[in-house]
Amino acid sequence: MIVKEQQEIILKGIGASPGICIGKAYLVDRGTVDVVKKYIIRKEDLEKEKNRFKASVQRAKEELHQIIEKTPEEYREHANILETHVVLLKDKMLYGKTIETIERERVNAEWALRKVVARLKDIFRDMSDPYFRERGSDIVHVSNRIMRNLSGADHVSIKDIDKRVILVAEDLSPADTSQIQLERVKGFVTDAGGMASHTGIIARTLQIPAVLGADRATKTIRNDDLLVVDGTNGLLIIHPSESTLIEYEERRARHEIRIASITRGADAPAVTTDGVRVEVMGNIELPEEVVAVRDFGGDGIGLYRSEFQYLSRTTFPSEDDLFDKYKDVVEVMAPRPVVIRTLDINGDKAVSYLSGADEANPALGLRAIRYCLQKPEVFKVQLRAILRAAAFGNVRILIPMISDFEEVVQVKRLLDESAIELERRGVPCRREIQMGIMVEVPSAVVMIDTIAKKVDFFSIGTNDLVQYAMAIDRQNRQVAHLFNPLHPALIRMVKHVSDVARDEGVRLAMCGEMAAYPLHIPVLLGLCIDELSMNPQSIPLVKRAVRTLSASDTRGFMDSLLKQVRASDVNALLREAYEEHMTRHVHTE
Ligand code: PEP
Ligand code: MG
Repeated sequence: MIVKEQQEIILKGIGASPGICIGKAYLVDRGTVDVVKKYIIRKEDLEKEKNRFKASVQRAKEELHQIIEKTPEEYREHANILETHVVLLKDKMLYGKTIETIERERVNAEWALRKVVARLKDIFRDMSDPYFRERGSDIVHVSNRIMRNLSGADHVSIKDIDKRVILVAEDLSPADTSQIQLERVKGFVTDAGGMASHTGIIARTLQIPAVLGADRATKTIRNDDLLVVDGTNGLLIIHPSESTLIEYEERRARHEIRIASITRGADAPAVTTDGVRVEVMGNIELPEEVVAVRDFGGDGIGLYRSEFQYLSRTTFPSEDDLFDKYKDVVEVMAPRPVVIRTLDINGDKAVSYLSGADEANPALGLRAIRYCLQKPEVFKVQLRAILRAAAFGNVRILIPMISDFEEVVQVKRLLDESAIELERRGVPCRREIQMGIMVEVPSAVVMIDTIAKKVDFFSIGTNDLVQYAMAIDRQNRQVAHLFNPLHPALIRMVKHVSDVARDEGVRLAMCGEMAAYPLHIPVLLGLCIDELSMNPQSIPLVKRAVRTLSASDTRGFMDSLLKQVRASDVNALLREAYEEHMTRHVHTE
């Protein structure tokens, strides 16, 4: 037999997480990713559409019967649940209503099913009886099964990956990413997405090389193809030749040596040449990332994005679930601080079981604290878990997307109520924890002097502050070139927040991606930011940058920077003053 060598193919994408990996491709079927599109069905095709739905339900029923048959006797309980699911498949509220919606609204079956399920979830969620609330999650399981059949999706789930692979997908939602057993993933490749996507952020934190936005990747790559992912240069090589493989093995070794040299000395504090200490902390999404923050010399966790614990499931996590996760992180970091940000859900991080009505502008919708204040019963579960974890170390609480003074007042009231509930139950907790807000909405910047009276710290989230202040959708590639945290409008906003923080004795942090770049550090030092938090890999270089600068020089530099009216002039001035300095003192190998 003659084995023909396959042609090497090179694709260009965005190097979203540096490093090199070599391995086999594992294609996540596009159907496993939860994207539902709406389209109108012609009148003459309505019958066909309804039959397509009925066939998917029938298939779901056969699948469930097969699983029930194979279920051993000792798991009878499990089989009983599945039998309930079989009954639910033909339930009037699910089956009947979906068919009715296809007919009445002349929409495709996927859309009709999604709409019906969203309504049902609302109904079940609002029921006071826990038994009925549980039935809401059964509906979700059943409808997911029908949905997979409708979209012809592969049933292999990402969470079942059982070998070390390079994951290749069209796109990965935060919910998908949180299902993956990340220790099985050598690298990430996606058609869509970029630096600021959550796949990018997680990949960087876990030091998994990633090439995102590699347009034709899923169309070109087949399962088990050999791949080289060059996350440093944003290159993807399919079927690498022998010589390419040798070259990349060498590069991989060099990259590892470089990381080791950067990390050396990272534990030492970041103090400027004139004695100003800056805390350099890490952002995490998942509890396992805490190790990376420690290894890269982080002074604490400056942002624990807690929503990921809500994404990988079909129902809300319990107080104990959350407490266990928070306690792990807090204990590993103690005595260093852990800033737990409360649920920042909706917006770009939609969760199937908690989304209600579809929002035309999710970023401006029922997101983050707005959702939590509307669902105090959900919010207080998290507040209690945080107060309990606070008994095990140094915990601070951070509230996202504050846009109004009254929201801060309400959060404090709910925190008090949560502490009282715990005390009544006799559960150990700590109420005297520092509370801060994310500064990411312009109205909060304007009102910051009033909010300052109520909180212990501010944390500026530049990812959203740029989005909301400059009306630039952070997810939209078309306007990505306008997304610039060095825009004079942003710098002036941060300056205002910083002046108020100083006057009111409130600590000032920044946890947006802006903080992760050494060249930005002169600006952030000049703006008197006390604490910088970022993806863990950036910590050593940022610490190194701080150590090479004089805080008073950077404050002087700000005088001229603040006079600029164009982003391009800010950029030019900054480069002229500090680019060579950074190359010489910080980016050295
Ligand atoms: C931000 O908005 O800058 C931020 C840190 O939060 P997230 O990226 O999670 O919205
Ligand atoms: Mg934000």
